[in-house]
Amino acid sequence: MNAVNLLDFDLEGLAAFCESLGEKRFRATQLFRWIHQKGASDFEQMSDLAKSLRAKLAGRAEIRGLPVISEHVSADGTVKWLFDVGAGNAVETVFIPEDDRGTLCISSQAGCAVGCRFCSTGHQGFSRNLATGEILAQLWHAEHSLRLRLRTPAGERVITNVVMMGMGEPLQNYSALVPALKVMLDDHGYGLSRRRVTVSTSGVVPMIDRLREDCPVALAVSLHAPTDALRDELVPINRKYPIAELLDACVRYLDAAPRDFITLEYCMLDGVNDGDEHARALLALVRGRLPCKFNLIPFNPFPQSGLRRSPASRVQAFAAILQAGGIVTTVRKTRGDDIDAACGQLAGEVQDRTNARRRMQRAPIRIEPVPPSAPR
Ligand code: SAH
Ligand code: SF4
Repeated sequence: MNAVNLLDFDLEGLAAFCESLGEKRFRATQLFRWIHQKGASDFEQMSDLAKSLRAKLAGRAEIRGLPVISEHVSADGTVKWLFDVGAGNAVETVFIPEDDRGTLCISSQAGCAVGCRFCSTGHQGFSRNLATGEILAQLWHAEHSLRLRLRTPAGERVITNVVMMGMGEPLQNYSALVPALKVMLDDHGYGLSRRRVTVSTSGVVPMIDRLREDCPVALAVSLHAPTDALRDELVPINRKYPIAELLDACVRYLDAAPRDFITLEYCMLDGVNDGDEHARALLALVRGRLPCKFNLIPFNPFPQSGLRRSPASRVQAFAAILQAGGIVTTVRKTRGDDIDAACGQLAGEVQDRTNARRRMQRAPIRIEPVPPSAPR
């Protein structure tokens, strides 16, 4: 019999599992705290659990993390792990320390089926969704191994923020994502507030609506273009869910989180989407309609992309137009690029089961001018 991986459960799920063993619900809370707050992987460590329960768990259940293939530490303190998820697939996770916080960037899939032109994960194709336990194993391992290494005082957390911005499209792995988010938010788990957990999506509109109902954490949307013609080229899912529908979903999302805003991510590609006219068209799209902030990401190049990073002066000029239009705009600092841990460089290992790699080798991006009709 295969042992159940307890990392696959949120607290509700663990309570149901404990009940199936004839145990009271509060036992689940104890067990959950041992796993997520103390990082235990062995039932024998769990000294306040009845011996009879420990005996029941042994054999039936386990706390199964992911094997670490490699770990790299960047000169700026960024840490990148490569985790083995079996059958020749591996996913990456990145820890980004800053003065006032520690952010973990987590993967949700081995590969990605969306196939954005500027993303190295997209170029690798798609193998499979990660299970809840594989998503959480990244956080569980990072938090507890860093605590040991940094000699963090008991009760303090190393990871204060989580962003679902690693490999994969989280909203195309919805059923595994939501229990993982619940564990991050749970006071008996990682106790992160919902503003400190961010789901980043290329724009899976129906799932944005479901997330609003099920677990309205902070939302980041990868916009990357002000017009459908250009976004169709850069982010192919736009052909299914065009910009107007996406922005409407963002407005609805904020109904569940009225004091919040949406972060719009925008990867700056030299000569493709970085002109003044693009910035002005973006303003026309969002102003007075969507409470949002822009996060400009200088493109991180990788072989095969055929794209270039916008010059820093161009990024500044672009940001200035958005700011002058009243939209808070930040430029993402590149971290960990000496270990290929920057946005969009996460490649892991993916046994592609789609024809993504071939599809990506098609004609270069068609750059169409922004229609002058955009209201100013
Ligand atoms: N699939 C989700 C989350 C993972 S990608 C999404 O697309 O939102 C996280 C962010 O990195 C996205 O905004 C993505 O567009 C950006 N990104 C991807 N490739 C990049 C690259 N080569 N350089 C800079 N940013 C990139
Ligand atoms: Fe997938 Fe996001 Fe990369 Fe697009 S940017 S291919 S959605 S991981």
